Amino acid sequence: MVPNLIGGERSLPDAPTLPVYDPATGEVLDEVPLSGPAEVERAVAAAVAAFSEWSRTSVMERVRLMFRFKALLEAHAEELAALVTRHHGKTLDEARGEVRRGIDVVDFACGAPTLLQGRTLRQVSVDVDQDLHRFPVGVAAGIPPFNFPVMIPLWMFPLAVVCGNTFVLKPSERTPLGAVRLAELFAEAGFPPGVLNLVHGAREAVDALLRHPQVAAISFVGSEPVARAVYREAAAYGKRVQALGGAKNHIVVMPDAELDAVVPAILGSAFGNAGERCLAGSVAIAVDSRDLVPALEAAARRLRVGPGTEPEVDVGPLIRREHRDRVAELVAQGVREGARLVLDGRDQMSRPGFFLGPTILDQVPPDSTAHRVEIFGPVLSVSHVGKLEEAIARANRSALGNMAVIFTHDGGAARQFRERVEAGMIGVNVPVAQPFAFFPFSGWKSSFYGDLHVHGTDGVDFYTRKKMFISRW
Ligand code: NAD
Repeated sequence: MVPNLIGGERSLPDAPTLPVYDPATGEVLDEVPLSGPAEVERAVAAAVAAFSEWSRTSVMERVRLMFRFKALLEAHAEELAALVTRHHGKTLDEARGEVRRGIDVVDFACGAPTLLQGRTLRQVSVDVDQDLHRFPVGVAAGIPPFNFPVMIPLWMFPLAVVCGNTFVLKPSERTPLGAVRLAELFAEAGFPPGVLNLVHGAREAVDALLRHPQVAAISFVGSEPVARAVYREAAAYGKRVQALGGAKNHIVVMPDAELDAVVPAILGSAFGNAGERCLAGSVAIAVDSRDLVPALEAAARRLRVGPGTEPEVDVGPLIRREHRDRVAELVAQGVREGARLVLDGRDQMSRPGFFLGPTILDQVPPDSTAHRVEIFGPVLSVSHVGKLEEAIARANRSALGNMAVIFTHDGGAARQFRERVEAGMIGVNVPVAQPFAFFPFSGWKSSFYGDLHVHGTDGVDFYTRKKMFISRW
């Protein structure tokens, strides 16, 4: 069974379990416990017990440990990537990219001596000085999704901990193994017991964290309905919350874009990570172009589907059979609602494991399900407009606003797009507009609930509270 790690001890709770699969074969790799409130209570108690000493540890000591953690992550990067591929299914190259982007956040957290500095204004009034100092918030909890089992936990606890907080991580019950290895390396780096605690589970464990009076902050990443519910519930219990939700990202292709460059970029964006990515470009909007779809189809037919461990594979399996079947049903619904099926990846469903190959729906009606709903699989919807203004208006109909991308050489078009499209992460000739760790991951609209985003200085603000000193001597 996958262990909980609480106060530096491994434990196997007496709880129901769920299987952890290899999605490429359907084989059961392990069992993950569905911890209940009692286990959450133990994890929070361990974090509370560790907080008073940890929060008084010098910033330099925290950073020294964080540098050691970083070195261990670098040394174990290949092992972590293999683990991600094994229980998530993405290709090894995609897993390596995930680990690298996770380590980027640890690099950023190592800048704590600069990031945690306050501000001073001497002589703000006659003989009066004013200072702003940052303090940790207390115990923070992290609830990541299944699709980045290493990177998204690393969005959360390194920054929280370097700010002086202690942490309870509740990994995704579908991909819990990456977090266990991260916690082991974190302990090996020398962080004291209780600074990071791991409790496995699903909704019951999340609810216990959201309601726990000694949890001060919640970092959540997952689907939109759960993000909205987590935001409401945690806020009702007086916590600060950052809740990142789902996405439906648009890629606008202008008539001047060079198809040789654009086609592989769109395929990588739509089908990378088997489309299970909150920055997947899942709707391509062709502006006055008849050539785009034939070019996409020809190139997509050449993509190889198979286990992520095989080096020549481009598209791995989906996470679970039920999810794969939902994606297949959404493809069928897209056709029923008027889309033209150009490439049908459902022919891969007969393989062992949870596969569905790259799928392209063309002439997708703007109000249809395939244009509106996050499918979270390797399905690219294409729609057509005559002008950039119409493309922007179509993208802006979405309730979600994570990312929007334009391909063009026209600076005026790029600027108009950047200014008017309602999404928080914009790419110009960049297919996956993921901000680096020192900038915030800035979803808009229903892709994000909260005020302060993950990582970047937003992350530092989220995991610290400010205290003002005014003094006259
Ligand atoms: P999910 O919402 O099913 O689960 C996310 C986390 O919430 C898991 O840890 C899970 O155990 C927990 N959870 C699930 N249902 C719950 C409930 N009813 N109450 C309380 N907790 C619950 O999401 P997922 O399927 O694991 O991940 C995929 C989703 O995450 C997609 O929608 C994707 O777009 C989104 N995502 C968003 C971002 C972003 O940065 N905006 C990044 C990655 C993934």
